[in-house]
Amino acid sequence: MSSQITVAQLRQWLLGYADRIDERAAYLTELDAAIGDADHGANMVRGMSKVRQRLADAEGAPADIAMLFRTVAMTLISSVGGAAGPLYGAFFMRAAREPGEGEDGSITVGQLASMFRAGIEGVQQRGKAELEEKTMLDVLQPAVAALEKAAAAGDSPARALEAAVAAAAEGLKHTVELEATKGRASYLGQRSVGHQDPGATSSYYLFESLAQALDDDC
Ligand code: ADP
Ligand code: MG
Repeated sequence: MSSQITVAQLRQWLLGYADRIDERAAYLTELDAAIGDADHGANMVRGMSKVRQRLADAEGAPADIAMLFRTVAMTLISSVGGAAGPLYGAFFMRAAREPGEGEDGSITVGQLASMFRAGIEGVQQRGKAELEEKTMLDVLQPAVAALEKAAAAGDSPARALEAAVAAAAEGLKHTVELEATKGRASYLGQRSVGHQDPGATSSYYLFESLAQALDDDC
């Protein structure tokens, strides 16, 4: 089992994520219908279908991880109208700027965690949200913290992702109890309590799909 994460695995991750979004589109829309405007499923499908098209073309496939993330970022920013597209775009754009690839283009769990940590800063810079505001950050933050902890403990990528998915699941569940104070759901105030956040849900699938992509190659 390799301790390195390759560009091929991360490309597989994003293709798997596009499929997961297709499968869960109706559910994401249902969640957004309760506290938003019922377009999160459609927004994510639009963006990730475009990402799939870009990545499916083997000729033009991004050669390294930074380029892969930058491609995802630009595709999401240009194709998704809702709040989540530019926020995920900011995540991948910032992640791409965090260097650390080895000579063979692969990275460690710690390097991936650093990229994702930078990604979170990008989301915060763009969306101005903090933790506990019932947004995607309530999944991204605990999941990346779990990755950092796993990296410090020397865990394998598969093991680290298992921990990240568990933390993401906890964070996602917690969004049900929170009152939204950012984004469209904040218009509902207290009435947003009792509903799971749609963007936190699509962020949970990011980690679930990554765990899958890294596990398949063990
Ligand atoms: P819109 O709100 O424009 O309809 P979407 O429905 O696609 O866009 O996405 C909504 C999700 O975006 C929310 O569930 C929340 O997780 C996330 N979100 C909204 N505003 C912010 C913000 N300022 N910071 C972080 N995430 C946010
Ligand atoms: Mg919406």
